[in-house]
Amino acid sequence: MRSDFPNLAKVMIDETHSVARRSWVASANGHADFPIQNLPLGVFTPGRDAARGGVAIGDEILDLAAAVDLGLFDAQAAPAAEAASGTTLNPLFALGRGARVALRRRLSEILDADGPARARIEGLRARLLHRAADCRLELPAAVGDYTDFFAGIHHATNAGRLFRPDNPLLPNYKYVPIGYHGRASSIRPSGADLRRPNGQHKGATETAPSFGPSRSLDYELELGVWIGPGNELGTPIPIAEAGDHVAGFCLLNDWSARDIQGWEYQPLGPFLGKSFFTTISPWVVTPEALAPFRSAQASRPAGDPPPLPYLFDAADQAGGALDIELEVVLLTAGLAAKRLPPQRLSLGNAHHLYWTVAQLIAHHSSGGCNLRAGDLFGTGTISTPTDEGLGSLLEISAGGRRPLTLTSGETRRFLEDGDTVIMRARCRRDGFAGIGFGECRGTIAPAL
Ligand code: CA
Repeated sequence: MRSDFPNLAKVMIDETHSVARRSWVASANGHADFPIQNLPLGVFTPGRDAARGGVAIGDEILDLAAAVDLGLFDAQAAPAAEAASGTTLNPLFALGRGARVALRRRLSEILDADGPARARIEGLRARLLHRAADCRLELPAAVGDYTDFFAGIHHATNAGRLFRPDNPLLPNYKYVPIGYHGRASSIRPSGADLRRPNGQHKGATETAPSFGPSRSLDYELELGVWIGPGNELGTPIPIAEAGDHVAGFCLLNDWSARDIQGWEYQPLGPFLGKSFFTTISPWVVTPEALAPFRSAQASRPAGDPPPLPYLFDAADQAGGALDIELEVVLLTAGLAAKRLPPQRLSLGNAHHLYWTVAQLIAHHSSGGCNLRAGDLFGTGTISTPTDEGLGSLLEISAGGRRPLTLTSGETRRFLEDGDTVIMRARCRRDGFAGIGFGECRGTIAPAL
């Protein structure tokens, strides 16, 4: 094994990342999201059977419960495989990095076209594999707590500028990884139905608020971070150990009702404008799969304060950023009627985050708050410094003042009923197989 980042001894590149490795599952080879180098974990329901853990491989899902029953795991990988074979991945997340790495190496061997027992394993294909199209993807974990951060500095600046043109970032922004406690109960996997929320809103020209369907429903493009194993109450996680508590990543759409949010958010922050629904991509892309796509955290601009010592770690600065391309596309009734493809709204990258994931974890636990396996973080909306990668319609339409004209001729300030928002993420690097996250998709149904 070798590491491309000597300062990050724990982020290892090994044979599972080899671009030469191919799978006997033919659809995996060259697959945009799920080649054998990815091996994301999830929970799925095949037909009428019970939900169980699985691994995305090409257009199919490897059934971990079946693989455990067939005795395919050695002593090192078996505990992780068993922990990942039930109705949630919380037990796997609780085991931490070592177990997860052992599972990845064995899964890669099982699915390898040149693996030592290919003929025997491929002979079990009918029991091991399900067509993904025939399965329903579930939430991968029972989310105990969900915290949403605000680490996308270009989004924070763009959103702040709408309210404070001369002073968009508040004075704490470059010192504190700002966040709030979100609602775990309304998190759903990609494709789940989303209803436009009702709530209180008060337009600029209205003298009193009214209650009714949100008039400015928006999306927020974020990266989700799955937590595991977590810390004891009262015992903070030092930043140098924060990476040990990342179980994986997903895409996260923090649906936002801007009018409800605008009327309610002072003085205690986001509440019903956010809590009605959050969509995530259901596959958990592991830190190991992302190892080739880490990069140095961008230097802070001259004049910015350095992170306080509890938020600074040299190895984290050297390799703690993630080079993940992020895309948002919109499908509307007008585009579908004219047989036009979904329209791209933005193309950005997760390396624009001002705070690293390790900094978010160190900060969250710094006061003693305990993180638990299966907790979920949102990074905050990720936007680019320029207009091609704005992570919300709030930014694209300048708070609704600059409507967007679609190729169908329709216009959008915010989302309309029937609109579908699809988020995708891709990683590419020369010398490595590209991987993706799968979709994070939601369609808006009319308000009750
Ligand atoms: Ca958010």
